[in-house]
Amino acid sequence: MNFRIGNGYDVHRLVTGRPLILGGVTIPHELGLLGHSDADVLTHAIMDAMLGALSLGDIGHYFPPSDPQWAGADSLVLLAKVNQLVQAEGWHISNIDSVVVAERPKLKPHIQNMRGKLAQVLGLQPTQVGVKATTNEKLDAVGREEAIVAHAVVLLMRSSADA
Ligand code: MG
Repeated sequence: MNFRIGNGYDVHRLVTGRPLILGGVTIPHELGLLGHSDADVLTHAIMDAMLGALSLGDIGHYFPPSDPQWAGADSLVLLAKVNQLVQAEGWHISNIDSVVVAERPKLKPHIQNMRGKLAQVLGLQPTQVGVKATTNEKLDAVGREEAIVAHAVVLLMRSSADA
């Protein structure tokens, strides 16, 4: 088998007094995401998709919220660690697609920056990293601006033909 696919999902609460960081980009907003790390919900969904593609579990296993060393962690650093794990297993990313569901703020002006940051950390071209944004049409917790959700899928390819 030369391809593996994984999907990831994450949600974090929006609160006052926290920065809003999505895909490694700090976005000006009066609310930010609550979490043990920097609560970068998009990067978390991508990491879970990468781990899921290889049935390696989830990020809670590798970076448990109970472990103080991950308090306030830069999720891009965690993403690099997950990428190392994937590469050590003999795989690399073909492409990522993702969607962030947020009622506000408008994310479109920041999408290219997110793709660039994620691609840089993963050693990819931005064309391999899809990031989309949508609202929840004012429905449910996301629609009430109580939370932001992210979904991601990742396709992995085997790194060597004889592996
Ligand atoms: Mg998370």
